[in-house]
Amino acid sequence: MIERVEKLRTQMEKEGLSAFLVTSPYNLRYLTGFTGTTGLAVITLNHAFFVTDFRYTEQAAKQCVGYEIVKNSGPIFDEVAKIVKDENLPNIGFEENFVTFAQYSLFEELIDTALVPVTGMIEALREIKEAAEVEIIRKACQISDAAFAHILTFIKPGVTEIEVANELDFHMRGLGATGVSFETIVASGLRSAMPHGVASEKKIETGDFVTMDFGCYYDGYVSDMTRTIAVGKPSDKLKELYQITLEANKQVIAAAKVGINGVQLDAVARDHIAANGYGEAFGHSTGHGIGLEIHEGPNVSKVSEKAFVLGNIITDEPGIYLPGIGGVRIEDDLLLTESGNEVLTHAPKELIIL
Ligand code: ZN
Ligand code: ZN
Repeated sequence: MIERVEKLRTQMEKEGLSAFLVTSPYNLRYLTGFTGTTGLAVITLNHAFFVTDFRYTEQAAKQCVGYEIVKNSGPIFDEVAKIVKDENLPNIGFEENFVTFAQYSLFEELIDTALVPVTGMIEALREIKEAAEVEIIRKACQISDAAFAHILTFIKPGVTEIEVANELDFHMRGLGATGVSFETIVASGLRSAMPHGVASEKKIETGDFVTMDFGCYYDGYVSDMTRTIAVGKPSDKLKELYQITLEANKQVIAAAKVGINGVQLDAVARDHIAANGYGEAFGHSTGHGIGLEIHEGPNVSKVSEKAFVLGNIITDEPGIYLPGIGGVRIEDDLLLTESGNEVLTHAPKELIIL
């Protein structure tokens, strides 16, 4: 993790920061390797401290390679104040989105140096995946693919959405996932017109489209995939929505490459759906980054002007939702590579009719 700390130091120097107080759990994991729940890091230009209490000092000593482990027996911020004083730090950056007002008030009282609010500095580093991170996400995607293949043998008329969601979740855990990356979405029939229809007691019926949006946590990283299938013969209207959505998804795969930005890639899906008359029925962004968190940068949206770079992993998830009729979403995870992109999710996408 020390190479990541070096990258952060380069950014800190650019911003004139002499230290950085890391409190976000995902950023802590990224920079220190610590998987416990209580602790914080203080990174200076030449030292790295990890502060935690007696419950975690042994774990931290093992996981936080290259860090000096500091045990706090009293309030944790007292130790931060002591480091600031001992190291004679002229300022310290803190993650303004991960500090409560109460904590900030306490910092001001305890810490005798300039407090500098910082946003997105570590998150920007996290957007560029290292080879080892790619391999973990690849495995998380394989687990989702296998769970999808399994669920096709489970879904039949009369089974409820919740039963389908639980089966998916359980199957992913059976394959080594430590949990789900978000609450599994199973939306069937008219409910499939809700982009984020969390599984309900509704029974799946013949003629329903079933949209399943799910993913798992594997070794700290997520997968995120959506497939829509038909149970029994679907209406011509639903089949039309499916084909348009699938084309939009494939066009994004054909277009995704380093150098274009989120606005441009979002437009690929949006323009295709609009050209077919359903522009109003695609209300969400085309995609988002994934990694330690289910939603991170870079975004694939109407406002994301950041250009993609090598090592970004983004989702490609166009959808069409018609209230009173139903909906479709198809989502893959894409790794930006030298030759364009590599699709990490491999579950079939031609319309499956059970
Ligand atoms: Zn999803
Ligand atoms: Zn997604």
